[in-house]
Amino acid sequence: MSLVSRVQQIASEHPEKIAYNFMGKDTTYAAFEQSVELFAGALKSIGVEKGDNIGFLLGNSPHFLISLYATMRIGATAVPINPIYSPDEISYIVKNSDAKVIIALDALLPLVEKAAGVFTSVENYIICETQPDTVQKLAALPENLKTKVKPFSVMISSAAMGTSAVETDPDDIAVILYTSGTTGHPKGAMLTYNNIYSNARDVAEYLKINTEDRVITTLPVFHVFALTVVVNAPLLMGATLLLIPRFSPQEVFQIAKEQQATVFAGVPTMYNFLYQFPEGNAEDFSSIRLAISGGSSLPVALLHNFEDKFNVRISEGYGLSEASPVTCFNPIDRDRKPGSIGTNIINVENKIVNELGEEVSVGEVGELIVRGPNVMKGYYKMPEETASAIRDGWLYTGDLARQDEEGYFFIVDRKKDMIIVGGYNVYPREVEEVLFAHPGIVEAAVVGIPDPNFGEEVLAFVVKKDPTLTAQQLEAYCLEKLAKYKVPKKIEFLEELPKNTTGKILRRSLKPQTV
Ligand code: AMP
Repeated sequence: MSLVSRVQQIASEHPEKIAYNFMGKDTTYAAFEQSVELFAGALKSIGVEKGDNIGFLLGNSPHFLISLYATMRIGATAVPINPIYSPDEISYIVKNSDAKVIIALDALLPLVEKAAGVFTSVENYIICETQPDTVQKLAALPENLKTKVKPFSVMISSAAMGTSAVETDPDDIAVILYTSGTTGHPKGAMLTYNNIYSNARDVAEYLKINTEDRVITTLPVFHVFALTVVVNAPLLMGATLLLIPRFSPQEVFQIAKEQQATVFAGVPTMYNFLYQFPEGNAEDFSSIRLAISGGSSLPVALLHNFEDKFNVRISEGYGLSEASPVTCFNPIDRDRKPGSIGTNIINVENKIVNELGEEVSVGEVGELIVRGPNVMKGYYKMPEETASAIRDGWLYTGDLARQDEEGYFFIVDRKKDMIIVGGYNVYPREVEEVLFAHPGIVEAAVVGIPDPNFGEEVLAFVVKKDPTLTAQQLEAYCLEKLAKYKVPKKIEFLEELPKNTTGKILRRSLKPQTV
């Protein structure tokens, strides 16, 4: 079984079942499958073959779903890229991935025009029309570009049915996901057909995603969390995706209510925005049976506040691009532990080791390592980085964690984010948890700064809700809850915290401004 054959099966057994809703319009599995088949034919007609890499510069829309499943149907490899990356970032990934075709939103047409001569590997560009004047713009392109740039709708409408699924080996590469890692340029994590199929299947089983589910898909689909949890897992189970192009609390609440959504998945920042949104209430979320958090630590105070306000239970999980991504989740039908990332999902093993790679005892902090069918094949064209990330079949995550007696894992921090104050370890997360629990604060991030006496000191960036709150008051509050060396020596108030497009707080980008 593969993701492609499973969707084919659902389309033939339950053709009228709704695969996705986008901007109020329902599309059945039969119609989805037909578009996939046509687009697969279109890709073949421009010379795409098994093993070719195709760059996607797409957001949350049917274009992405059709492109992904058509790419897999012909045994090619999808390279999803964040469409709002800077031209330099996009250029690096396109070149590094040797993309043969780019499928892009029409908003990126100016970039395509500029880059066409530079991206030597790219033979064709397929432009997805979202604006009424796109067809005219495409018609006005210079002759040398016109032959290379094709509208998505024309590709589909002129393609013939009958492109059957190409036989793939489970070990062939289905997706290359560029992940920023901790240093240097992004690396392309190569996920095989089996990686992404098995993780979608195991997550679906663990979270009991089923054909009745209506899943809010607002996490950006080019990111691995969305790709597996709110795209592939629900499609595998014949559920319905409720596509939301851009996250906004208003839209999430409106769609959840109108469409009777049953599953919501978000990063902690989304939970915070939903929680702070004045018009949101429990009635909007009354159909939600499962709320999922992942991507970064969900502050415990936020989890409780959210659950109290909206009368839902949040299950936090953990993952990383290199593991397709999910390795741990809190169980949904047994006790979940706030602050924990849960236990091993089906088929995946997690363990905590010291610097020598030896397993540490319960309660001790070490690096989290992972083994299972979800672990990537390696980084594209980077054998050395691959060898240092995967040792003896275990993926080294770079995250520090501990495990309790009942097998629940707790992320303590990232290896590189740890602050050392006069020889004592401070995990930014523990200070952030305390700050998040303060009622006068919207959000906070903590970093280390050099200190002549202690090596490093703790600096907190805080977005306040209560305008009268002072740094002195916060310091006094922290002193009640934390050991003195962990209390921020400096507190800076900001209007908002820098975040990436998945909503993760960019803690490291705060650091250089201060040193
Ligand atoms: P990415 O490859 O972009 O998905 O990022 C993976 C990283 O996100 C992990 O290595 C962790 O540092 C972080 N992460 C993901 N989920 C969690 C979580 N529930 N708690 C803490 N950190 C997380």
